[in-house]
Amino acid sequence: MAPTDAHSDARELVAKSCRMLGGLGLTKAATGHVSQRSPDGKHVLIRARGRDEIGVRYTTAEQVIMVDLDGKKVDGADGLAAPSEVYLHAHLYRTRPEVQSVVHIHPPTVVLFTICEMPLQPIYGGYDPGSLDLLLKGIPTYGRSITITNFELAKEFGAAMGDKNVCLMRGHGITTAGASVEEATVTAIRLNELAEMNFRAHQLGTPKPISDEDIAEFQRRRNRGESKGAVHMNSTWRYYADLSGA
Ligand SMILES: [Zn+2]
Repeated sequence: MAPTDAHSDARELVAKSCRMLGGLGLTKAATGHVSQRSPDGKHVLIRARGRDEIGVRYTTAEQVIMVDLDGKKVDGADGLAAPSEVYLHAHLYRTRPEVQSVVHIHPPTVVLFTICEMPLQPIYGGYDPGSLDLLLKGIPTYGRSITITNFELAKEFGAAMGDKNVCLMRGHGITTAGASVEEATVTAIRLNELAEMNFRAHQLGTPKPISDEDIAEFQRRRNRGESKGAVHMNSTWRYYADLSGA
């Protein structure tokens, strides 16, 4: 399939997300990939691996290839191939029509919590309601530490993730999903912030969760549509794009 203008925009957006996540230190070297469902819904634009790949933070649109929903490459330079974990992305696109973008990265601080089997706790409220909200919605963990290199494992992983937009992967990384590349990316950044603050609180003392009363109030606000998480999504994306120089 020949690249179209719509696809080149999508490739650039995927590449920009990679540059942001790499630039912010949320994944190291060449590990991790961002993808987006193609406009026709039958393909996926995904950061490639292979002989000619460059690190996540340096990803260009040319490093983003097209695969089908079986994970097979259908377009892209010869020296680039689908990541070995392409099945994780393909499975989520096959089974969750609302998902338009998937981020899979290895953020060290978040992974530390899975290594030590320590839960992320709701230790702040007004400091950052957007990342608190992830926790209040529930953050599942996939208990195995292997890479997701076939559909059998992808199915197992998908069952652990359920209908959530975030899933921790023990001793491995995280996967986030969203209705856009921006949303999946900002969700990954928010999850990392939640882990960073939990980590720092553990260094300083014993983290104490905020009160049940305050948690209930944040949940009421979200249910009443008063949560600003969605409103702040685009500005958060722009801020981190500028900060990371992406
Ligand atoms: Zn991985």
